[in-house]
Amino acid sequence: MATDASDPIPPHKTFDTILVLDFGSQYSHLITRRLRELNVYSEMLPCTQKIADLGWTPKGVILSGGPYSVYWDDAPHVDPAVFELNVPILGICYGLQEIAWTFDNKNVLAGEKREYGHAYLKVERHGDGEAGGHVDKLFADWEDNTEVWMSHGDKLGHLPEEFITIATTSNAPFAGIGHKSKKYYGIQFHPEVTHTPKGKVLLKNFAVDICEAKTNWTMSKFVDQEIERIRKLVGPKGQVIGAVSGGVDSTVAAKLMKEAIGDRFHAVLVDNGVLRLNEAKIVKETLTAGLGINLTVIDASERFLGRLAGVKDDPEKKRKIIGNTFIEIFQEEAKKIAAEAHQASEAGEIEWLLQGTLYPDVIESISFKGPSATIKTHHNVGGLPKDMNLKLIEPLRELFKDEVRELGMNLGIPEDLVWRHPFPGPGIAIRILGEVTPEQVRIAREADNIFIEEIKAAGLYRNISQAFAALLPVKAVGVMGDKRVHDQVIALRAVETTDFMTADWYPFDGAFLKKVSRRIVNEVNGVCRVVYDITSKPPGTIEME
Ligand code: GLN
Repeated sequence: MATDASDPIPPHKTFDTILVLDFGSQYSHLITRRLRELNVYSEMLPCTQKIADLGWTPKGVILSGGPYSVYWDDAPHVDPAVFELNVPILGICYGLQEIAWTFDNKNVLAGEKREYGHAYLKVERHGDGEAGGHVDKLFADWEDNTEVWMSHGDKLGHLPEEFITIATTSNAPFAGIGHKSKKYYGIQFHPEVTHTPKGKVLLKNFAVDICEAKTNWTMSKFVDQEIERIRKLVGPKGQVIGAVSGGVDSTVAAKLMKEAIGDRFHAVLVDNGVLRLNEAKIVKETLTAGLGINLTVIDASERFLGRLAGVKDDPEKKRKIIGNTFIEIFQEEAKKIAAEAHQASEAGEIEWLLQGTLYPDVIESISFKGPSATIKTHHNVGGLPKDMNLKLIEPLRELFKDEVRELGMNLGIPEDLVWRHPFPGPGIAIRILGEVTPEQVRIAREADNIFIEEIKAAGLYRNISQAFAALLPVKAVGVMGDKRVHDQVIALRAVETTDFMTADWYPFDGAFLKKVSRRIVNEVNGVCRVVYDITSKPPGTIEME
């Protein structure tokens, strides 16, 4: 991908960058993350990237793993020009096989045994002799019999010419190889996964000692550069508009804009009537009084709830109504704000739209899905229509979630907000199973508020990835104050997950659940029973609709 002409200083132009070329392994993005955790900036591009189109020179290149076999007719191959960049190259798994294939054609074959899981690595050191010492650097600070994690079926038939063995396992005689005179390395195991405990040391050896990349990727440095970049991009009069939700990403993005261009950034919070209890008020206080952001809150509850009335059995329909109504209101408001801003100051028209896109979305849109698969174009979050004619500004598009949190702390955003659980765009409308009415909203909100309050009081909030109360569309019998009642049922859901792709329900102790249940039944009118959802994902999803 060529450098975006509208981007005056992309990070790979100012930070020493390790380029990860992705062959489609499910772990490729972890290589990038690990490097950034070492304060080395890294970007990932598909393995089909033409080196001539890159527009910048990486300090080193890593070829990732991948599901293909290099000897297949349609297997993906790296642009041979990568070997003319004159920078160190590390091949991981498929990447190792790809290096061997390039240097010694037809030298990879299917092994008799697949190797999946733990193996113990023996490092072979060569001293200063044969390869001038550089091959030993990759395994510096590794002891013999270090645990590594393998996931492969293919293997090298023999060492490619000019290469020597630098590590072995009982099943893999070429678990690590290095070029005698050039800084090219291949390893059969995966250093990026936590099952390889010393993996990070190896990545550091490669990036810092072998590639000599600076370890200057820190959020405080990023803030300064990003503010500078936004100012250049928007110009001295430019105006930017963006929706905020009270979530981490939009708040961090908004605060960054505020630091860069002050009140020329216009934040809009649309109250859709299905936010959490008192949410609009709390967000308003935090963003305006707390963070000094120029914010307009639009109370559109009635319009949203009016359109949701009568929608019972089709969760997709709820999502669509909320999404479309949001776009409609945001557009109306953008027009008003643009007119006012234009009149009130010397400032220019609103030309820019802020979006809190994160790096995983970018990776998802460019990730390598296979030799024949077309690469997906990026669907921007929020799905605002093109006819708004606004240019996109995405200050978080290079960052992983944990980096966004660190950036938030750096910008003085309260810790509570920085660690907030995710909240879906359609809000509690998809946590009210069945029809969304103002009364159902009240019940779901109050129950949710009690649940979250108790989770926080028990010190569990940060151990849980997402938690909420849902309102089930059934009634159950109960007895309250000696009277028979026929009231509604609240389902509590709390999950732990690292990536939200798979998740497990959180194992609360009985005393905690008892307390939450007692409070909800006592304090929330209309509820006579509380249940706890013990479904993992898959087969369940995190949200209920
Ligand atoms: N498909 C190759 C193999 O089985 C590479 C696997 C990988 O990169 N994880 O050996």
